[in-house]
Amino acid sequence: MTRTRASHGIARLSPSLSKSRYISGLKCPKMLWWMVHEPNAPELQGDDGLQVMFARGHRIGELARARVPGGILVDVPHHELEKRVAATAKALAEGARAVYEASFFEDGIFVSVDILERQGGGFVLIEVKSTLDVKDEHLPDVAVQLHVVRRAGLSARRAEVMHLNRKCRHPDLSNLFVRENVTPQLRTELRAVAGRAASMMEALAGPLPKVSIGPHCTTPYECPFLERCWPPLPDYHVSTLYRIRSKRVAELVEDGIETLQDLPPKLTPVGPARRQVRSVKTGKVVVERGLRRALAALKPPLAFLDFETVNPAIPAWPGCGPYAQVPVQFSCHVLTPGGLEHHGWLADGAADPREDFARALVSACAKAKTIVAYNAPFERLCVDALPRRHSTRRRAA
Ligand code: SF4
Repeated sequence: MTRTRASHGIARLSPSLSKSRYISGLKCPKMLWWMVHEPNAPELQGDDGLQVMFARGHRIGELARARVPGGILVDVPHHELEKRVAATAKALAEGARAVYEASFFEDGIFVSVDILERQGGGFVLIEVKSTLDVKDEHLPDVAVQLHVVRRAGLSARRAEVMHLNRKCRHPDLSNLFVRENVTPQLRTELRAVAGRAASMMEALAGPLPKVSIGPHCTTPYECPFLERCWPPLPDYHVSTLYRIRSKRVAELVEDGIETLQDLPPKLTPVGPARRQVRSVKTGKVVVERGLRRALAALKPPLAFLDFETVNPAIPAWPGCGPYAQVPVQFSCHVLTPGGLEHHGWLADGAADPREDFARALVSACAKAKTIVAYNAPFERLCVDALPRRHSTRRRAA
């Protein structure tokens, strides 16, 4: 029997913080304040993309639980916090081998642990992630859960991240997950939880915190309130520079360099970005000297090809690993002496699209001597990844 403090009952649960709010507060106290004080803000209303992400996370969670079988799921609506904590306490008191969605409330923080597995005389806390590796941003997430579980009186000696395994290949999904012990990496994070949570709750009780914009607004993910905080950008803002990183944008802006016109010669980039800056500074279209020669080298007829792909987290077709890119649509314009011909193909249904895709692609490109794609390495990668019996090779420009 394991008795947690939660099992003695809690009068009313109205936590100021949840795990996700704690993580938001680490990113930015202002973002947390808006999330708590304006929960119905339009920026927080999910779109179809978010629903797809939730559905994916839900499915991965189910499969992860199957890797730690024989547990009890806390199957109580998410907003019924008190009942969730009570159901967890009951499952633990009954000696459950594992508890899925195990819920605890301590120090004003509510957490739901994906999997709490009983091992020896204690517990292993398992956080399930849909990534292929443990990432730095997972650590505060696991630390706040471990802190709350320990404060609830449980002996949780070990914390793990269970993430997708890049070596897994359909149809054998028995090794879909990898479990990594992250306990040693949590020491500093764990020590900081109580103090950080107290500061966040204090900030939440006050007025909107003052926070300057910076790289934290876009990394490791984009803040939903970007448009509230960031002023409208001037034309040719440095963020429009070809392939520039958000960290570099922040550095340039901090140095007073707002637009591409402001870039001093010593900071002129290389490659296509250099051409872009030259064009902006001169106000003219730049046509490089070598362009005519490069275009003349393309042997007609030309086919202009563009793929669309899907990359399911859970491998869906033979030979695919997690997030393998599989082409499901192409558009092909073939420039012939008689004019421009368009060919297209779109997968229909959940069946393996690759054989039909390959046949349609070979047929569409049959008249072409050179295939041109805006991002040719990507299209080449997709063709190379087709199972050999489906693949077709042509020179891609
Ligand atoms: S845009 Fe930046 S400063 Fe504004 S709330 Fe979001 S993270 Fe904070």
